[in-house]
Amino acid sequence: STQILLASRPEGRPTPQNFRTETASVPAPKEGEVLLKIRYLSLDPYMRGRMSAAKSYAAPVEVGAVMEGGTVAEVVESRDPNFAAGDMVLSYSGWQTHAVAKAAHLRKLDPEKVPVTTALGVLGMPGFTAYSALLTLGKPKEGETVVVAAATGPVGSAVGQIAKIKGARAVGIAGGPEKCRALIEEFGFDAAIDHRSETFAEDLKAACPDGIDVYFENVGGPVFEAVRPLLNFYARVPVCGLVSQYNATGPFEGPDKLPGLMRDVLTKSLTIRGFIQTEFKDQMPNFIKEMGSWVADGRIRYKEDIVEGLDKAPDAFIGLLEGKNFGKLIVKVA
Ligand code: NDP
Repeated sequence: STQILLASRPEGRPTPQNFRTETASVPAPKEGEVLLKIRYLSLDPYMRGRMSAAKSYAAPVEVGAVMEGGTVAEVVESRDPNFAAGDMVLSYSGWQTHAVAKAAHLRKLDPEKVPVTTALGVLGMPGFTAYSALLTLGKPKEGETVVVAAATGPVGSAVGQIAKIKGARAVGIAGGPEKCRALIEEFGFDAAIDHRSETFAEDLKAACPDGIDVYFENVGGPVFEAVRPLLNFYARVPVCGLVSQYNATGPFEGPDKLPGLMRDVLTKSLTIRGFIQTEFKDQMPNFIKEMGSWVADGRIRYKEDIVEGLDKAPDAFIGLLEGKNFGKLIVKVA
């Protein structure tokens, strides 16, 4: 198996030197295990957290260990009655070409129904994140305004489209005119705002004449600063991610904004609520059924950015934290 390991922990922005490629022999599967050939590897922002030793909700990847990640794989050899050679499965096998996995940890995929890569995006963890957190914490109502950034990504694009299904107005924030065009033309957002534009804050205000009822927080930083004055009484802010801060090395610069934020929380009765998607896992059956039917009948559209070759994974991942991806970032391993 060719493997990409964590070679060292990054200081700030990761570099290619933080990764190392090695070859290792793959053990034979034992009873209840399968041998997998990895076809697709998902690259996700949370992997930046796993590269750091800082305490978080999940243990870090050890230096010298294979980078973790969700994968779509083909069963090559099975020692479990539920799987046979040729089956396509969702596994968590990480940045490598082959792996042995416990059959109990796998989900079988049906390539006849939808492309298998959707199990890493719109019908996988990111889509589930959008669905469960928007409906449970954001609770968009008819006629309300929902704002989301990183809006062409797998989480953001699903948030905006589900908000539309619920009768809300969807305003997407993305980096650059091409992504903004996709928000309107491909994903059906009502407005698209470029956070790299000098007039970003004014543009956002103009796009939200009735204020913001739900801000689905994916990025933090200057985007949140532009959103904050527009939040309405009783606005909900599910805090999903802060990707603009993942490469930051503290302490944070600038004047202390916390007292002003707390005043807003009080006087506007805001609900700011962080979460990790696993909290909502009992909603998985609903998600698979409902989101599956929305994707099948074209009500929810998705965009994938597929990079060829495992050796491209480090650069593609570094780019993900800077908005170089356009859609769900996936590595085609083989
Ligand atoms: P995306 O594919 O959307 O990739 C991240 C995007 O963030 C980039 O493409 C870029 O889009 C945007 N971005 C990067 N830097 C900045 C910046 N400085 N300012 C503004 N935008 C920036 O990722 P996902 O859809 O997979 O994830 C979206 C968010 O959801 C992340 O924060 C992630 O950590 C979080 N998440 C949280 C989960 C949870 O359980 N809490 C589960 C899954 C995801 P652009 O070019 O448009 O700016």
